[in-house]
Amino acid sequence: MEIVAPNAEDIKSAIRTLLLAIGENPDREGLAETPDRILRMWKEIFRGYDESRKPTITTFENEEGMSDIIFDSGDFYSMCEHHVLPFFGRYYFAYIPSPGGRILGISKVARVVGYCSARLQLQERLAREVVEMLSEALEGEALGFAIVMKGKHLCKAMRGVRNEGNMCVAHFTGVFKQQAELRNEFYRLVEMQNDRL
Ligand SMILES: [Zn+2]
Repeated sequence: MEIVAPNAEDIKSAIRTLLLAIGENPDREGLAETPDRILRMWKEIFRGYDESRKPTITTFENEEGMSDIIFDSGDFYSMCEHHVLPFFGRYYFAYIPSPGGRILGISKVARVVGYCSARLQLQERLAREVVEMLSEALEGEALGFAIVMKGKHLCKAMRGVRNEGNMCVAHFTGVFKQQAELRNEFYRLVEMQNDRL
C-alpha cells in the first residue's frame, strides 16, 4: 500500500476538527494560528521519522585499549504512542568498549537519545532503540551496553488521582547482561547522579 503524505492544509484542517471535537471554537483569536503552530512543532518533535535528520555518530579508535565503563546521563523528552502525550525524564547510559575496537564520541549519546525520542514511543522500545543505534555505530563490537530510563508519563499523571505516572525501564546487553557485578557498578554510578524526578 502506498502511503501518501498528507499536505499541510489537510493536516491543519484535521487539527481544526480535533479542536471542534473537544468543544472549542477554532476560529477564536487565540486558536486561529494553533493548527499551523502544531504542524511546525511536530516537524521538530517528530523529526525521528526523518532519516535525513539522523545524527552522525562519530567514533574514535580505542587507542589505549580501554575496557572501562563509560557513563553518560541526561534528559529525554518523548511522546507516548498510546495517548500522544509527553513522557520525559532522565536517562543513564553506559557501555564498555572493545579494547581492539572503537569508542563513541560521548556527546553523541544525547543526540541519539533525542533522535529516537522524537517519534511516538514506548519507553521500553526507546531504551532498546538507543542501544541498537549506538551499538551499530560501533559495528557491534562493544562488550556491553546498559541503559536506565526514568520517565514521567503525562497520560498517567494528568488522569490518575494517586498515580504520579513514574516509570523506570532498564535494558542490558553483553557483559552487563551476563555479570551482576557490572550491573551493580552501573547502578552505583546512577545513584551517584543524585537525580530526583
Ligand atoms: Zn500513554
